[in-house]
Amino acid sequence: MLDFRIRSIKAIEVLDSRGRPTLKTIVKTGSGQGYFIVPAGASKGANEALELRDGGRRYGGFGVLKAVFNVNSVISKMLIGEDSREQEKIDKMMIEADSTENKSRFGANSILSVSGAIARAAADTAGLALYRYLGGSGNWTMPVPLMNVINGGLHAGNELKIQEFMIAPIGFDSFREALAAAAETYMTLRDVIKEVYGKNAINIGDEGGFAPPMKNTRDALLVLSESIKKAGYSDKIFILLDCAATNFYDKEKNKYLLDGMELEPGDLLEYYSELVDEYNIVSIEDPFHEEDFESFSELTEKLGNKVQIVGDDIFVTNVKRIEIGIAKRAANAVLIKPNQVGTITETFEAIRTALRAGYSVIISHRSGETEDSFIADLSVAVRAGQIKAGAPCRGERVAKYNRLIEIEDELPDSRYYGERFFRRAVL
Ligand code: PEP
Ligand code: MG
Repeated sequence: MLDFRIRSIKAIEVLDSRGRPTLKTIVKTGSGQGYFIVPAGASKGANEALELRDGGRRYGGFGVLKAVFNVNSVISKMLIGEDSREQEKIDKMMIEADSTENKSRFGANSILSVSGAIARAAADTAGLALYRYLGGSGNWTMPVPLMNVINGGLHAGNELKIQEFMIAPIGFDSFREALAAAAETYMTLRDVIKEVYGKNAINIGDEGGFAPPMKNTRDALLVLSESIKKAGYSDKIFILLDCAATNFYDKEKNKYLLDGMELEPGDLLEYYSELVDEYNIVSIEDPFHEEDFESFSELTEKLGNKVQIVGDDIFVTNVKRIEIGIAKRAANAVLIKPNQVGTITETFEAIRTALRAGYSVIISHRSGETEDSFIADLSVAVRAGQIKAGAPCRGERVAKYNRLIEIEDELPDSRYYGERFFRRAVL
């Protein structure tokens, strides 16, 4: 007899890809076990659930021993004996016991580590792969990887204000082929950057993309489109941006400080239109600051029929904010980061809300990541069609892509999302 009851919950402090502490929680049922390691953002939305850090001198204040204690004491005590398949009930128990709007009592990092580990433990107990446990059966879709190959903003020590220059290998029939072409393009990009900017320019940023000493958005777009062409994939690999515009917005002036210019929201919108005309840009994330629903709506109105407009910091995987965005037609896609909201149940609610409104869904990593590949399984489980997990470089990034290769191998009947990106992405 399989025993799904939770027997133990144990958190420990481990390190993420930036060398900062995070939580790893292991949940054991009577017949199985699962873990979850919490990632961490650098360009965090102001409305994200709270990440509990210790403060003080240890680890520069980034320690998570308080969060570890919360898991190992009150949360563990509350959940021992519960049925691990009751994800919603368990997540609700934690939300209610925390009793704050932003999970600031226990910390969203504590709560998510338990929530994710319980899902894995239940899957393991059932003898199912995580994607299967979370996603049922049939109509399997492998996601298009959105790979951040040039890093800027808060993810790199260069002058680029735009945080992420990504590539999406769309024109392929399988995830495996798509990944190979994207990795080839990444290697070509390395050669091109080295040729133009010298060998000091091929160091990499937080998400495994290059962080060359470029100043302007067009500098990055130029080398990137040249590299895609040189690799031979101009009609198959497309460009995407994550502007993370909150980070170059000057609140006092109500202006965006970008590429040596001071831009009104309307000027920035025009600038994006020019870039879309000049380059093969098919998606723009966080084009304006995180409270500027109006400018998001104007951009979606203007470009939304040909470009995916993605909300990340503006929506923070929060159903209430996604609903505001839907009502205002502020975007046509939503980025999903489980640790922005803090439980697996709320993550699924955010995904369902977006899909019901016809929005595209992108499952996303954080800039501070770990070897945990939970989001790879999640992207397949919900048939998201897109996953954002960084460059095809560095263990914490390729962990997700390698897991997807494994999943595709297990699912010979699966279809690659590929060209459906264009049908689905736009309104
Ligand atoms: C993002 O902004 O989409 C991102 C992944 O970065 P971070 O984790 O720093 O928020
Ligand atoms: Mg973002």
